[in-house]
Amino acid sequence: MKSKCGQKMNKVVLDEYDFSDLAGLPVVVRDIRILRCAKCGEELMLGAETDRIMKQVALAVVNRPERLGANEARFLRGHLGLTQKELAERMGLHKITVAAWESKKPISPQHDHILRAMVLAKLMRKDSSDLLALEHVHTAKPRRAVRRLVVERLAS
Ligand SMILES: [Zn+2]
Repeated sequence: MKSKCGQKMNKVVLDEYDFSDLAGLPVVVRDIRILRCAKCGEELMLGAETDRIMKQVALAVVNRPERLGANEARFLRGHLGLTQKELAERMGLHKITVAAWESKKPISPQHDHILRAMVLAKLMRKDSSDLLALEHVHTAKPRRAVRRLVVERLAS
C-alpha cells in the first residue's frame, strides 16, 4: 500500500496504541500492526486489524467482573451493530431503558448479563458468518426444503 506522498508504506508493530477514540472507552492495545510511511510519517491501520482489535476489546469488556458502565454498554451495543431501539426490541425492553443505562442509570444485573451473552454469541461466530448458519437443504425425495442447523467443529 502507498502513502499519500507516494512512498510505499512499511509494516510496523507498535508496543502500545491508544484505542480510546475508536472504542469510545479508555483502552490501550498492545502489539498492534500498522502501516507507516518512513518519508512523511503517515500511519494506517488495516481494516482486518481494526476488526481483530475490536473483537479483543469486546471480549475484554465482557470478561470484566464489574457491572457494565455506560461507555462499556454503548460499546457492546455498537459491537452488535444494533441501534438502541433494535437492542431494546431484541431484549423485550423499551428504548428508554437502553438509553438510560448508556447515560446515567446503572444497567440491571440481568440486562448486563443478557447484553454480555449476546456479544459472546457474536464473538463465537467465525468472522460474523456461519459457524452456526442455517442452511437450506434440498433432497430429491421428499421434495421439500429442510432447514437444518450446521455446526462446525470449533478451532482450538
Ligand atoms: Zn508518505
